[in-house]
Amino acid sequence: MVKRSCEEALAQVYLYLDGEVTWYRRSLVRRHLKKCPPCDDKFAFEDRFKAVIRARAQEDPPPEIMDRLRTYIRAVGMEDPPIG
Ligand SMILES: [Zn+2]
Repeated sequence: MVKRSCEEALAQVYLYLDGEVTWYRRSLVRRHLKKCPPCDDKFAFEDRFKAVIRARAQEDPPPEIMDRLRTYIRAVGMEDPPIG
């Protein structure tokens, strides 16, 4: 079960990866990830996912990555990731 603090941290992860959060919010995310291994895992996955997107901007991401992302999005209750 995802804790409330986890939901908030993960909601920031997308923005964090897009560089759209302030240093203050980044520090909050980092602090949460440090003490919360499950979220740290998700962050690491998101980071890899974004790297794949950047590297293959003209291609579709690998199906297994998309499957994992969909599972993750369902888990945290988000509609769509702001990929782009
Ligand atoms: Zn957490």
